[in-house]
Amino acid sequence: MKTKQPKFNITELKQILQGYSIHPSHQRLQILMYLLEHKTHPTTDIIYQFLAKKIPTLSKTTVYNTLKVFLAQGIIVELAIDEHELRYDANIKPHAHFKCKQCGQIYDVFAKSLLFNMDFIDGHQVTAYQVYLKGICKNCL
Ligand SMILES: [Zn+2]
Ligand SMILES: [Zn+2]
Repeated sequence: MKTKQPKFNITELKQILQGYSIHPSHQRLQILMYLLEHKTHPTTDIIYQFLAKKIPTLSKTTVYNTLKVFLAQGIIVELAIDEHELRYDANIKPHAHFKCKQCGQIYDVFAKSLLFNMDFIDGHQVTAYQVYLKGICKNCL
């Protein structure tokens, strides 16, 4: 029987960060790993609270600053689907987000949309897009 392997190993994650010219510090690697393993679109707070148990020296400011660096390099995307807090997603493939009004869960939805393939629209250059859908999720229905 095969032993259970973590989905992402540190060497792989180091290469990702180095590929974006980001120094792969321990804290940055752990934050990236968290985002890749938890597709729940966490907030800064959620990431901090989880990782602070593993890294006692971690500060919320470090999490915040690391997310800003990842964002600037395009490793992650920021979601403003919530009125009150920003959420983060390491899935940078074009996809939309669906938020359930009942349970608050945010799902990735991969509907085909022409909008995702547009570099220009009406002569405007598109550099980012956010597609948010809201309703009642299949688990709550
Ligand atoms: Zn729901
Ligand atoms: Zn997503």
